[in-house]
Amino acid sequence: MLHLALPRAMTADPPFLIEPRLHDLGDGFAVRRLLPSRLCRRVGPFVFLDHIGPVDLAPGRGLDVRPHPHIGLATVTYLYEGALTHHDSLGCRQVIRPGDVNWMTAGRGIVHSERTPETERAAGHRMHGIQTWVALPQAHEEAEPEFRHYSTDTLPEFECEGVRLRVIAGHAFGMTSPVHVYAPTLYVDVEFAPGGTQVLPPEHEERAIYVVAGAVRVDGEPVPAERMLVLSSGRDVEISAASAARVLLCGGAALDGERFLWWNFVSSGKQRIERAKADWLAQRFGQVPGETQFIPLPEH
Ligand code: MN
Repeated sequence: MLHLALPRAMTADPPFLIEPRLHDLGDGFAVRRLLPSRLCRRVGPFVFLDHIGPVDLAPGRGLDVRPHPHIGLATVTYLYEGALTHHDSLGCRQVIRPGDVNWMTAGRGIVHSERTPETERAAGHRMHGIQTWVALPQAHEEAEPEFRHYSTDTLPEFECEGVRLRVIAGHAFGMTSPVHVYAPTLYVDVEFAPGGTQVLPPEHEERAIYVVAGAVRVDGEPVPAERMLVLSSGRDVEISAASAARVLLCGGAALDGERFLWWNFVSSGKQRIERAKADWLAQRFGQVPGETQFIPLPEH
């Protein structure tokens, strides 16, 4: 997907709802894209958010995202169901499973592929998850690339009166995730049992609620499944669920300036993106060991 930079982070005053756009990853594998959207380019450091599935994959079918480059961002993968193998140009290979976090800091440049593991592919399986991109602060845009995996049992969790909170990254509700972040971040998986209610305090400057499954009310207003509600700052927000629901809270401190997004590249400088394009065309990004395929640079 190609994105042109828009002059402002948001084109409307929150609160407002973002409708998902369907985006084909290839081979008929569609994802719902919430960020960036026409109304909102980012929430805190989150500049991109894809909701993958839930989709039932027949035996023999799987996801195959061939090697492709990134700069200036971190990709953050979190699954509800299924599995995905990450393999990158640093030589890291890691299977991610539900509840784990894969955090890949692209920094000055990395190449990775994401594919369904052989066992799941052979057996057929259900795939459901979220992939987001977090823009790096300007001081870290050229950081050394790094891949880190955090298993599900390392994430802080709290359950009370029909609400289960898991801090995927950053800090919230008095808990801090072990995931290494570069700026104040809000990223929480919330599961509601029927009748569950949770207040989100105004701890983070920019905030949004994405309804993964079920439906919730936010300060009494209904928010259906697969919609993102971008919240206003500076006050408590009450989220309630009459029936079972699962939501993501995302956001954090506002980014330190504008970001340009083009294909898989994020940068505060347009020239840096031009350099990344030239580097990928000339295959100067490095290679994923043992993989010969790659996604070519889109027409530009
Ligand atoms: Mn990627």
